[in-house]
Amino acid sequence: MVLADLGRSIRNAIGKLGQATVINEDVLSSMLNEICGALLHADVNIRFVKQLKDNVRKSINFDEMAGGINKRRLIQRSVLQELMKLVDPGTKPFQPKKGQANVFMFVGLQGAGKTTTCTKLAYYYQKKGWKTCLICADTFRAGAFDQLKQNATKARIAFYGSYTEIDPVVIAQKGVEKFKKEGFEIIIVDTSGRHKQEASLFEEMIQVSNAVNPHSAVFVMDASIGQACEAQARAFNESVDVGSVIITKLDSHSKGGGALSAVAATGSPVIFIGTGEHTDDFEPFQAQTFVQKMLGMGDIEGLVQKVNEMGLEDNEELIKRLKHGLFTLRDMYEQFQNIMKMGSFSQIMSMIPGFGPEFMTKGNEQESVSRLKRLMIIMDSMSDMELDYPKANDLFSKEQSRLTRVARGSGTSVNEVKDLMSQYKKFADIFKKMGSMKGLFNGKDMNPKNVNTTQMQKLNQQMAKMIDPRVLQQMGGMGGLQNTMRQLQSAGMGGMGGLPGMYGMGSSGGGGRFK
Ligand code: GDP
Ligand code: MG
Repeated sequence: MVLADLGRSIRNAIGKLGQATVINEDVLSSMLNEICGALLHADVNIRFVKQLKDNVRKSINFDEMAGGINKRRLIQRSVLQELMKLVDPGTKPFQPKKGQANVFMFVGLQGAGKTTTCTKLAYYYQKKGWKTCLICADTFRAGAFDQLKQNATKARIAFYGSYTEIDPVVIAQKGVEKFKKEGFEIIIVDTSGRHKQEASLFEEMIQVSNAVNPHSAVFVMDASIGQACEAQARAFNESVDVGSVIITKLDSHSKGGGALSAVAATGSPVIFIGTGEHTDDFEPFQAQTFVQKMLGMGDIEGLVQKVNEMGLEDNEELIKRLKHGLFTLRDMYEQFQNIMKMGSFSQIMSMIPGFGPEFMTKGNEQESVSRLKRLMIIMDSMSDMELDYPKANDLFSKEQSRLTRVARGSGTSVNEVKDLMSQYKKFADIFKKMGSMKGLFNGKDMNPKNVNTTQMQKLNQQMAKMIDPRVLQQMGGMGGLQNTMRQLQSAGMGGMGGLPGMYGMGSSGGGGRFK
């Protein structure tokens, strides 16, 4: 997908800062040119690309920089901030309130993904314990009600619609009244679309909107139309006050950059993105997390949430031992097993720092599963003693013959076993740090919000090192990042080289060091 390529190109460009012996105007210019080229390639509007370039330039003044200042860091930070601005108009979306009716009205052209996305949103809230329902106010398209009814039934969501009533305004009004009376909290009205923006569509939208008086009109936008989104979003915004945007089909080989930057132009915040046809191919959108993920920096908060949602039964034992600073190879093995159990593998992997959006594409799912499996095969050839040894790295570095034995036993190479061990070391370091943080583990759940901010900042700093060009270079080894990625891939390791930790580091409410 286009955004994965974009992330990779930007990562590469930033990585080159680490290779330069001196950081000066020339180095900055060539990096910016590379980044801008990548953005344009992803269909981001040239206006925004130019803005990004100018802003980064303006923020870096080589003449005024004192010696010893980490120029690389400053430049990276500025690039990140500008990328975030690109996808964040800075306005807050409507936040539904518990215990009262919150009415959403979906608008957008036919085929944009309204009906699918209505169900996704309802399902999302239902899973979080909200009382949710769907109303089909699309009488324009034959079969619209059946489609919504099917979706709703499958996800066990209450729904309302009519085969006989032809006035969408009447259906919407009746449905909302009924569900309000019954104490529903999230009420979602699906409306019809047309192939083109036309007067009759906007007229109908205004009437439905007047009848149900929604708390928020959600504009559903198909990413695959690229920059054309901008004009469309503006047109809709003129008829109903678009409170927020959901971008669909970001999983397709679409020009996602066009859709994202179009949103910035309209001033309505993106609240979710759709990444597939299934009900759970849906992710809350946050500018910072999105950019971090795109650049392969992970989304720790999302990951912690996902892990907690799963309610892993054998967490307790692990947590107890983590509190004592113990994380063995067997623990890592079990974590890998858990990841495999969790389903929607690519979504989870993309939240882990160092993996990046390559995993947001379904096609890679198979590949990533087989990579993890390969690591597990290596561990299968270890003895119980090795798996449970508190400092397995010492063991393997003191007695090299262990590497050879395990490599032979697992049908892999000594280098692969070594890679696994360095992977394990990174994991273990982070896990041990987590273990010593008070409040992170509360009963069975991990909650990064309980942890004091200094501790969290320390972990965040560690995570931020991920984007340090020297670390990137390290990941890239001698032949540059891409080269090594390719080598790792063929060795069945994928992007494992940069994985510092799995869960629980928390970005302290989206804070991080890049804010
Ligand atoms: P509507 O006319 O706006 O209600 O659009 P629909 O919800 O009927 O969706 C149109 C088509 O887009 C359907 O085939 C959906 O399965 C598909 N679709 C919707 N959202 C996504 C998405 O995020 N990714 C992919 N790949 N397809 C999607
Ligand atoms: Mg529809």
